[in-house]
Amino acid sequence: SNSVYTFGGTAKSDDPRAKDKTITGGKGANLAEMAEIGLPVPPGFTITTEECVKYLAGGSDFSDTLRSNVASALQHIEKTVGKTFGSKDDPLLVSVRSGARVSMPGMMDTVLNLGLNDDTVAGLAATSGDERFAWDSYRRFIQMYADVVLGVDHGLFEEALEIAKEDKGFYADTEMDAEDWQALVTEYKSIVEQELGHSFPLDVNEQLWGAISAVFDSWDADRAKVYRRLNDIPSDWGTAVNVQAMVFGNMGDTSATGVAFTRDPATGERAYYGEYLINAQGEDVVAGIRTPQYLTKAAREAANAKPLSMEEAMPEAYEELARVFDLLERHYRDMQDIEFTVQEGVLWMLQTRSGKRTAKAALKMAVEMVGEGLIDEREAVLRIDPMALDQLLHPTLDPDAPRNILTKGLPASPGAASGKIVLDADMAEQLAARGDKVILVRVETSPEDIHGMHAAQGILTARGGMTSHAAVVARGMGRPCVSGASQVSIDLKTRTLKIGDADLKEGDTITLDGARGEVMAGLVPTVEPELVGDFGTLMVWADAHRRMRVRTNAETPDDCRMARQFGAEGIGLCRTEHMFFDARRISAVRQMILAEDEAGRRKALAKLLPEQRDDFRQIFEVMAGLPCTIRLLDPPLHEFLPTADADFADLADVTQLGVDHLKRRAAELHEFNPMLGHRGCRLGITYPEIYEMQARAIFEAACDVAESSGEAPVPEIMIPLVASRRELQILKILVDRVALQVFADRGRSVDYLVGTMIELPRAALMAGEIAHEAKFFSFGTNDLTQTTLGVSRDDSARFLAPYVEKGIFPRDPFVSLDIDGVGQLVRMAADRGRETFSDIKLGICGEHGGDPASIEFCEEVGLDYVSASPYRVPIARLAAAQASL
Ligand code: ADP
Ligand code: MG
Ligand code: MG
Repeated sequence: SNSVYTFGGTAKSDDPRAKDKTITGGKGANLAEMAEIGLPVPPGFTITTEECVKYLAGGSDFSDTLRSNVASALQHIEKTVGKTFGSKDDPLLVSVRSGARVSMPGMMDTVLNLGLNDDTVAGLAATSGDERFAWDSYRRFIQMYADVVLGVDHGLFEEALEIAKEDKGFYADTEMDAEDWQALVTEYKSIVEQELGHSFPLDVNEQLWGAISAVFDSWDADRAKVYRRLNDIPSDWGTAVNVQAMVFGNMGDTSATGVAFTRDPATGERAYYGEYLINAQGEDVVAGIRTPQYLTKAAREAANAKPLSMEEAMPEAYEELARVFDLLERHYRDMQDIEFTVQEGVLWMLQTRSGKRTAKAALKMAVEMVGEGLIDEREAVLRIDPMALDQLLHPTLDPDAPRNILTKGLPASPGAASGKIVLDADMAEQLAARGDKVILVRVETSPEDIHGMHAAQGILTARGGMTSHAAVVARGMGRPCVSGASQVSIDLKTRTLKIGDADLKEGDTITLDGARGEVMAGLVPTVEPELVGDFGTLMVWADAHRRMRVRTNAETPDDCRMARQFGAEGIGLCRTEHMFFDARRISAVRQMILAEDEAGRRKALAKLLPEQRDDFRQIFEVMAGLPCTIRLLDPPLHEFLPTADADFADLADVTQLGVDHLKRRAAELHEFNPMLGHRGCRLGITYPEIYEMQARAIFEAACDVAESSGEAPVPEIMIPLVASRRELQILKILVDRVALQVFADRGRSVDYLVGTMIELPRAALMAGEIAHEAKFFSFGTNDLTQTTLGVSRDDSARFLAPYVEKGIFPRDPFVSLDIDGVGQLVRMAADRGRETFSDIKLGICGEHGGDPASIEFCEEVGLDYVSASPYRVPIARLAAAQASL
């Protein structure tokens, strides 16, 4: 197979490798394709990525075959443009450009104007009739080649240019004339000689092979390696090399160079977008040496700018460019990011690729392109990155507003929030109740802060990682959160705090940017999310293509309503303990926990029954007709115990038990490793009256709602932390008994299911057995990850980041499911469960239910649904659709 492919002119290849990005790289493949559809592309050739891999493995040497292939490909260019490489009469100049399979912007090297030396520069001057242009090109070439190929610091050349301009009293490069550039070339050559101890290579073939080596070598430059690691690009791909005839944007005022997008990459609007520079070469635009000008008249006028747009300054070339934009969009059926040059009024295309874009632009373009008949709905659904939708699902800070940044923490939950600082959860609730917007600032948050978190607009913590309790709960509630901001120190005695260098007090206003982890002084204005229009259209298409259902993790009627607006089709996880933390109930909960015996517990539980029933009734009203998975009490009891003296005193009043007695009982409940302690179904087995009360509350509420609305929800009662069939059997009998009692009392019944969470490795192993008792499994992948890896999610922040950096985990396993490990357990449990009971309902309710990569895995295993926090529901809907396509 060939090692070199030509493009442009009469070059034509039936070899599919010529336009295969894996062989000729993204740039080379697209240049060949543009040439083939008749666009003006300067002729050239591409050395394959395979040759790069050989070169890097084989001690930086070139084979004779490659040398002769390059020589004949060079002849193709010479013949096409009618110039000769190295000729002192009419010299061919080329660019030598890198081009990997995927674009790695700015990571690798390019050399322009190659083929110039003291002889050819004269030829260039003669044929172009422009001395100045010839010497300008030569000095550019020496600087670029010396920098990229010879490793001479480009700063030395810039310095020399500055000095030359100063001596002449010039301000701009354009004031330099032919003699000035010629003098600078001499200066540049002596810089090279001083730095390297040998002279600048004047042999054009030596120049060419030097540049080819440099491009190959740049694949292994440090910056390229870092970029590959960050973007999951394999290191064995290599880069192609493109050698292409130069066209010149620096031949006076009818020449120019520019970069353009066929649509606005920020808004998605169907308007050309870009920049250009008259009398310049490519690197001038991006390097910011001169300020580029607008492409279109409309953009120039909107910006109130003076220098003429390309549309105005060179209308013919612009019209040609617009025609090419259209052609390219129709050909690639996507928005293109384009590099072009105009040489003496004639347009040349130098690059095209699918352009990067914001989420908003991606949606608008996808929907509009379906309307234009460029793509179909299926393609539109596949084009949107589900995670990018997150940008659109929360209010965001006005991008134009100034920011006074006090400190940065982890971007734990996206969105923007402003409000008064409050230092505890009760204060947050009080102030919010009277209509204030507050930001809860804590060293770290505990489950007891949940009411304060809910009352707050946003949460800021000094400690905790991206998966810390505060972060998970905040994401679940859609509250912006910055966690682990170590420059926050709080003094609760004086109710003051320090954020960075600023001294603040409770009541002062701050603003959080949860997507960037920034904390700002004062109020920064926000803009509301737009969930209508293109977004809505795309979601309808996504829903038409997905197999899995999407439910939500929610435990308040507000969250349920929000989730339904986002398209949730049921509840996948309702954590009942969050209802226990309510300020009004906590006292009854504490009495229940501290009771000496069953009778004492039942007395306290009787107080909780109507409250829980009311919770469920409200939720069921919102979710009428939909399945609702409700998990019975899960966390270790001591999480609910008082810690402050005042709370003990209150409790002593209610219970008529002494403070000392209560403190002793509380101490007795202490556990060394509560995560693996007395929690989950173990509570139900030892204190059945707790689960009895909860089951009763659920069934009574379901009957109430069926009666009042005529549409019953379908409660799916989930027993947590089951490890054996017998545990589930005992508790299922309990739930069924309560159901029968309630149905008899009410004279009506509702459909319900009893099932379990699979969150212990033993449960996954024993799934075939457990399925005899379960109508459904829900994979609790948070705990399953924790128990399988033996990694505590609350304590892992310190080592997980380095673990990911060192490649021990590809991603944080609490964010994206460890498919290789934990995934095996999920697959095994799903298979074994279905073997026992083919209709068993399977779902996932861990945080992973909102992660696209994990959702793809769920589709592969054949789960029936995924469940995600309300704000992740649209992401899950789209990811589920992509997984089925
Ligand atoms: P990158 O991948 O960093 O964008 P390129 O290989 O695209 O590097 O080169 C950068 C710029 O150099 C191009 O945008 C173009 O303006 C200019 N350039 C490259 N090849 C040529 C050429 N044959 N003629 C004129 N300009 C060129
Ligand atoms: Mg480029
Ligand atoms: Mg769990």
